Amino acid sequence: MLGVPAVAQDDGPTSELKEALERREQSARLQERAVAAFESGDIEAAIALLEEQLELEPANALAMYNLACVRCVGGDKDAAMEMLKRAIEHGFVDFEQMRRDPNLMDLHETELFRQILAQRRPILDAAGEMQFEVVRGKYGKAYAYDKDDSLRVNFASAYDQTTLDAAKVELRRISEWALEELFTGLNEPAMREVDPWVVVVLPSERDFRAWAIAMYGPASVTGEFSRIGGAYNHGRKELVAMDLGGTLRHEFLHVLHWRSNMRRAQGHPVWIQEGLCSLVEDYEMRSGRLVPVPSWRTNTVKNLGRTGRVMEITDLAGLDRHAFNNRRPLANYAMARAVFLYLYQRGLLTEWYAHYTAHFEEDLTGVAAIEAVAGKAIGEVQEDFEDWVAGLAYVAEASSDGLVRYLDVGLGVEVDPGKGEGPIVTRVSRLARVSGLRPRDVVTAINGRPTRDMNDFVRVLSAYRSGERVEVSVRRRAEHMTMEVMVVGK
Ligand SMILES: [Zn+2]
Repeated sequence: MLGVPAVAQDDGPTSELKEALERREQSARLQERAVAAFESGDIEAAIALLEEQLELEPANALAMYNLACVRCVGGDKDAAMEMLKRAIEHGFVDFEQMRRDPNLMDLHETELFRQILAQRRPILDAAGEMQFEVVRGKYGKAYAYDKDDSLRVNFASAYDQTTLDAAKVELRRISEWALEELFTGLNEPAMREVDPWVVVVLPSERDFRAWAIAMYGPASVTGEFSRIGGAYNHGRKELVAMDLGGTLRHEFLHVLHWRSNMRRAQGHPVWIQEGLCSLVEDYEMRSGRLVPVPSWRTNTVKNLGRTGRVMEITDLAGLDRHAFNNRRPLANYAMARAVFLYLYQRGLLTEWYAHYTAHFEEDLTGVAAIEAVAGKAIGEVQEDFEDWVAGLAYVAEASSDGLVRYLDVGLGVEVDPGKGEGPIVTRVSRLARVSGLRPRDVVTAINGRPTRDMNDFVRVLSAYRSGERVEVSVRRRAEHMTMEVMVVGK
């Protein structure tokens, strides 16, 4: 997820919401303490804390799963099995995790466990259907619904079918890329069927606000930290994205990454999760292939470099989730993406991921894998990385304060950032009007390249010269259309 703000409670949320948020925070703290107790070998304390967590949130399937693990390690196989079954009934469906989890070792050989595994396909399908049913009930008839069997994704969309179809095409494209470059083997048909279904919600602005407030508190949609564009919640198997651009792509890669991690029973550190997922935020199609490209995030690293403040890769790799999200998050995201873009452009990304996951037990941070595939010590890699950053060109970007930088052409229109489907035309020059653009048109693509958010829009636009003609795709009310528009100098 992108830039999680601290949950502030001074904005007058309803008492019900306040309670729910407090309960979730309290529950998360109990979970943290339980894990710490378990890791220090204090089984009794871990059990007590998890039971307290379940009293607070009786339907928390992850807490049930954790309790099953602790009970099992503590030697109570029957109680562990009962708790595991309850976790599954409540929606814990990461069967690969269960199958590989060393904490459940004593259950793995039992007949009951074998029976559970034999049932996992119908259990997964039923869980997916149940979740989809709940989502359909929640968002009602105004939404479009769809499913993609190959991605094992259900869709709920406030946008029309054409827009939803375009989003689906993009997600398939990202999936193809990821399966080829990173998560090789994720697509084996037999294995694919044991992936949990995920629901992708593309909500209306109103529904998005309600979701963000419920998840992160009122400060998430007001004030200066209102940067949340969406999130993938693996526990709930739910992806919510307000914008169909960088956020949707980023969060969808989280889905695939989680699937891959579940199969390997690995949990990767935050810089790897966020760096890989940020990679697909900005891409171009070249000869039918998706290619991640420099973006506003690489600009951020370039700016750090100009004042000699590029972070050490080893420091980045050592950040925990809290530090990553709270101490200069934009710089951390930018650094993580840049390191992977650097590896990618050197043709080392696929090899890096394969090496990292194969030697995960020896080095969790990913640094040893960088040294192995680059063939040099991390200090030398750092130098080479910083040279590479310095040599990158600045990319046209739109910052959150509304300023556009490094862009010297336009379409003869003024735009508002829009709500996630594409920038909205607010004013039209005479020339642009002749070509057919109108105020309130939503610009969704230029020459077929998606322009779902402002950074997409200005980056795509910057590839053209004044005097060139481009095909602009817009949605005008319920109609989708394209028109030829002359690119003009600014
Ligand atoms: Zn993320």
